[in-house]
Amino acid sequence: MKIYNSYTRKKEEFKPIEEGKVRMYACGPTVYNYFHIGNARTFMFFDVVKRYFEFIGYDVNYVQNLTDIDDKIIAQAIEEDVKASKVAEKYISAFNEDRAKLGIDTPTHQPKATKYIKEMIRFIKELVDNGFAYEQNGDVYFSVDSFKGYGSLSGRKVEDLIAGARVAENTAKKNPADFTLWKDAKPGEPEWGSPWGKGRPGWHTECVVMSKDLLGVPFDIHGGGTDLLFPHHENENAQAKALYHSELAKVWMHVGFLNIDGEKMSKSLKNFFLAREVLEKYDSETVRFYFLSKHYRSPIDYNAEILAESEKAVANFYDALSMIDIKEVRALTVDDSMSKYEEEFNAAMQDDFNTAKAIAVLFDLSKSVKNFSVEESDRKMAASLLLKLGGSLGFFQNPEEKLKSGESSEELVKLLIKCRNAFKKEKMWQYSDMIRDELKGLGIVLMDTPDGTKWTRK
Ligand code: AMP
Ligand code: ZN
Repeated sequence: MKIYNSYTRKKEEFKPIEEGKVRMYACGPTVYNYFHIGNARTFMFFDVVKRYFEFIGYDVNYVQNLTDIDDKIIAQAIEEDVKASKVAEKYISAFNEDRAKLGIDTPTHQPKATKYIKEMIRFIKELVDNGFAYEQNGDVYFSVDSFKGYGSLSGRKVEDLIAGARVAENTAKKNPADFTLWKDAKPGEPEWGSPWGKGRPGWHTECVVMSKDLLGVPFDIHGGGTDLLFPHHENENAQAKALYHSELAKVWMHVGFLNIDGEKMSKSLKNFFLAREVLEKYDSETVRFYFLSKHYRSPIDYNAEILAESEKAVANFYDALSMIDIKEVRALTVDDSMSKYEEEFNAAMQDDFNTAKAIAVLFDLSKSVKNFSVEESDRKMAASLLLKLGGSLGFFQNPEEKLKSGESSEELVKLLIKCRNAFKKEKMWQYSDMIRDELKGLGIVLMDTPDGTKWTRK
């Protein structure tokens, strides 16, 4: 298994720290609003990483935190005129609702930052006691000059950061590149007592403390969107390195942006579509296909045309599955005759999660299922493997249900085929051709075979 490590900027052979186990952490949402479809790309990708590792036999401990205390939550609380904790609660439920609707599994742990305040204070105190952090007017900052190696993850140099930082922004910092570990509370803001007065922890500390508690340091994989590489992940790693003399994680993975008109989709630019809005129009498997048909590190554009194509592609898989008895297929054990497909699929996935190539294998399988010149037993075997491999990417979570809901339109196609046959029998070719052509216009292709008329989607 090769994974591109943002730390070394190379594809590397993945070696788990503990044999047979993967300990992974992906930064979760800051719960001050509903999440957008760009966030969904990152969340869904790590769902696939988790599923695929499980598929190839690993025991996966997957942690995704919930940042439930943050400036943005406080600002939203003021806007909604409620307590910050109410805002967090509301959007944690919304997050889990939308996550489930997207077919994303519940992570092994979903720690909330506010449940770890004591541990965070202890951690910050240790940094201060060891000379890596200092207090100024109730705030605590990490000192980037206190240890060598700041910038090693993101490849940035402290000098460049100083030049880039606006010095006037915060005169309390010893170095403009220093970052906040603890923030003094203003009147009316949520607060916790600490050796530096009442305040709250900073985001970069939250993730280190929660990941260490649930996974230990170092753990195998740390992930997030590309925007988190700097400063968030750099700052997380700096704290871990300072105190534990170890990288926080061995492999760092970053997902490319979902863009809109070439610009990163983001709340602050107000150029976003909420995941829940998108799910009103498109099925979650369409969204999954759309994301996975591109490599996770490449940017993708939010594009209605590609989504419509993804919808057709998923419908194609279900057409194939509707042509076999799914119960019977589920009971089959995939035999060696299918190993070529399985090997190809695994080779793609184990080459830095090349889901686009892996999906091409699913297409080949679905073609075999639909090919009536192939032996029936082989068609069933191909369907069985399609379910198995597709399942490792999170597709086909409930195919029986899906096929049932698509049954009425299938029944209509069958009815039209019957009408066409009746017209043909009466030699009323203009009508039989009309049915064939109109269906073709809808993307449904009829094929006259010795066993009768079959149909497929274009
Ligand atoms: P946030 O709630 O802003 O911290 O974002 C949650 C996750 O979504 C983080 O891993 C971000 O890196 C990721 N993310 C944010 N915007 C995008 C985007 N446009 N495309 C892909 N991932 C994103
Ligand atoms: Zn984080």
